[in-house]
Amino acid sequence: MSDRDHGQCLTDETLTEYLEGGLEPAVKAASEVHLISCDECRNQLAFFMRVLQPDVTLEEANSVKAIAAQWGKKTDNRAMPQRKLMFPRLLVALASVAAVLVISVMLVWIVRERAAEPKSASEVVQLLLTQNRPFESRMAGEPHRPIIRTRGSESPGVSYSLLAGEMTRLSANSHEMGRFYLLQKDFGRAIPYLEIAEREVGAGAAVHNDLGVAYLESGNAAQLEKAGSEFLHALQEDKSFAAAAFNLALFYERTNAGAQAEAQWKRYLELDANSDWATEAWGRLQGLSH
Ligand SMILES: [Zn+2]
Ligand SMILES: [Zn+2]
Repeated sequence: MSDRDHGQCLTDETLTEYLEGGLEPAVKAASEVHLISCDECRNQLAFFMRVLQPDVTLEEANSVKAIAAQWGKKTDNRAMPQRKLMFPRLLVALASVAAVLVISVMLVWIVRERAAEPKSASEVVQLLLTQNRPFESRMAGEPHRPIIRTRGSESPGVSYSLLAGEMTRLSANSHEMGRFYLLQKDFGRAIPYLEIAEREVGAGAAVHNDLGVAYLESGNAAQLEKAGSEFLHALQEDKSFAAAAFNLALFYERTNAGAQAEAQWKRYLELDANSDWATEAWGRLQGLSH
């Protein structure tokens, strides 16, 4: 989940639509004004640029940040609080910054059209995984991010509805489509895709692992038991597949098999003693023995 305040901030849908050029002129203008003043939204916009178009160099994506930095200097000099944005003079300044911003966005867009080099669907999934950690359990190839504990009920999944078309355009296979929906916690869509992928000849450890994650996190008791078998399938394919070893320990915890969980965390730490995932495994192992 992002930390942005969606009362005022732009939703992911608005940002991606902005990039796709699908916003009403008035909404577009309002979005641009907001983008100038909000670091979070600008960062998110830069993120979507990378997702929609990984060919953009970091430098190009940073052009948005450079504009922001200039703007920051201006506001510092004048020590002008944001409340006073209504002042006509400042509005003029805002409008010119907005124009530069739009031009830079357009440039990036043109580069994308020119380059027209399709990146892979798995790269899109990978980029999304660098943005948020959907579960305690671990998808194949997922980079470590700390778990953000939210108060109250389980946080809802992030929705990347506009990227679904992109996945199709990139001819994502069943495994990638399953992962795409899984990271959004859309189990109803993820599980059928992953089950198809699992039945395919040559399904590897990653497929079994990800199907296991879907079963484990779906919140459906009937699916839960199947999660354990999937992590075992993954480990049969590749006994050093760390994600599955990690998830199997979590599975034992969730099924109240304390002794097995403890043994499995120890096995995990034999596979991986140094990563951030190992630190987390260590913490869980400590937690079990108290
Ligand atoms: Zn914002
Ligand atoms: Zn399997």
